[in-house]
Amino acid sequence: MAAPVVAVTVSTLRGLAGRPVTPSGWRLLLDVLFPVVLQGRASTAELAARFYIEQRPALDRPAPPLDPPSYQRDALDRAVARTARTRLRDRASSRAAISDTAAVVTRHVMQAGRDVLVTAAQTDRVRWARVPTGRETCAFCWLLASRGPVYRSADMTRWHDRCDCLVVPVHNPDDWEGRATFLAAQRLWRDSTEGKSGRDALNAFRRALTRSPDPTAT
Ligand SMILES: [Zn+2]
Repeated sequence: MAAPVVAVTVSTLRGLAGRPVTPSGWRLLLDVLFPVVLQGRASTAELAARFYIEQRPALDRPAPPLDPPSYQRDALDRAVARTARTRLRDRASSRAAISDTAAVVTRHVMQAGRDVLVTAAQTDRVRWARVPTGRETCAFCWLLASRGPVYRSADMTRWHDRCDCLVVPVHNPDDWEGRATFLAAQRLWRDSTEGKSGRDALNAFRRALTRSPDPTAT
């Protein structure tokens, strides 16, 4: 889903790297990136809407609206300025700048889908779970995932760059996509933090994750 966006971001930034970015160069960059990000957001939002409808049981009320939130060029400008604007000109920092920018642009693309799901779940008054999907899940996300379908609103949502977590609305607590992952994370949390609390518990959980980075594999 985010692959075309990453490809365009990387190739465009490479073309600008190694010298100071002029105002017109910057405008050009956004002229290229903005439509690609919009397109990516439309795709993730559509995919999320389809997923929501698929896993929603027959209810006596109509499905909630599944429109993606609006997105402004300003938001992209600010995000890309933070990761790239000054770091792009130096050879030493341009590689990291490009990789970080690809990550932030990817997050903006994925956010459309996450927003669709969180808003729909809220309207249907069901909770949602955070389900890690891959190679780079951090301890923070595993912690949130280990709590299962407890999330209600958008206000405690933090999505970091390179986060691979999905929003999964849960209509039936005994049967939902990602339940096995949740149970594995919950088990790891319980086993590793027994008798501990607060920061000690979190540190123990973190150590357990270092030993088994994929709780679902054990
Ligand atoms: Zn995550």
